[in-house]
Amino acid sequence: MLLVIDDMPSNIETLYEICKEDYEVCMATSGQQALEFCQTRQPHLILLDVEMPEMDGHEVCRRLKSDLLTDNIPVIFVTANNDPLEEARALDEGVTDFITKPFHARVVLARVRTQLTLKYQTDLLRTLALTDGLTGVANRRHFDTTLQNEWRRCARARHSLALILIDVDFFKRYNDHYGHQAGDDCLQCIASALRAMLNRSHDLIARYGGEEFVYILPDTSLEGAEKKACEMEAAVRALAIPHEKSDVAEFVTISVGVAACIPARGEDAADLLGCADRQLYAAKQAGRGQIKSLQFVADGKPTS
Ligand code: GH3
Ligand code: MG
Ligand code: MG
Ligand code: MG
Repeated sequence: MLLVIDDMPSNIETLYEICKEDYEVCMATSGQQALEFCQTRQPHLILLDVEMPEMDGHEVCRRLKSDLLTDNIPVIFVTANNDPLEEARALDEGVTDFITKPFHARVVLARVRTQLTLKYQTDLLRTLALTDGLTGVANRRHFDTTLQNEWRRCARARHSLALILIDVDFFKRYNDHYGHQAGDDCLQCIASALRAMLNRSHDLIARYGGEEFVYILPDTSLEGAEKKACEMEAAVRALAIPHEKSDVAEFVTISVGVAACIPARGEDAADLLGCADRQLYAAKQAGRGQIKSLQFVADGKPTS
């Protein structure tokens, strides 16, 4: 989807005629209108007129690039000016290419195609870099950055942040008995079930390690996270994946560690994670297939 921004309807019309066969073309006749449009729908590429009354192309571009929602959208400047200083300024502002007036259809289409291909590849790489290949949930890298961000955000807002660590019980035996391929299928199945339980946009589920998963639940109290953890434990049992070699049940089960706190200055997200990990260990020690949880207090004196 392309967004063409130009104060002259005749320019929009020409670009529309050139591009309509290959792309969905949306239009805006002012910078303000375009910025509002981008808040609800993000185009894959923007063709932006430089000279417009009120807000010019430079200002529109600056605002697009300073908003996380729109900073990844490539911008092609549409200009009658081929002054190299202007061009350099636009490149510094994050513009990726130029189309000059009067329009030449093949040149327009070639530049549009090139930018869309680059955008597709960049988006794909970004997704792959953050996704676990086997299960499709977030990978460890994504988890690490999200945890840092949510930790800071909850610290500023004085909100509770909760972590849920999940480990599949007797999974080595599962692999040994059913084979590694069946083990992979089992992990995919569990990951899908756990992902389906995400219901808020800030929540994240990641594969933490081999057969371990972790949930980040911002703005969530210990009680809220415990409830969620119970639902997860039940959801994995409900999958009823046979596990003949488990000492817990006939089916695959998980052990779960939960910890929550209101992040404070001088504390570290790793401490909260360590607390959740100790709860997971406690759940294993207590017989597996269950949940242990703790309100984390930074000075080392936790209260349960
Ligand atoms: P516990 O109940 O104490 O957690 O026992 P466990 O056997 O699950 O724990 P352990 O850490 O001894 O073994 C984890 C096993 O998970 C070892 C490894 O074979 C398996 N595993 C880790 N990653 C993968 C994977 O990507 N695919 C498959 N199939 N197995 C994996
Ligand atoms: Mg104009
Ligand atoms: Mg493990
Ligand atoms: Mg395990």
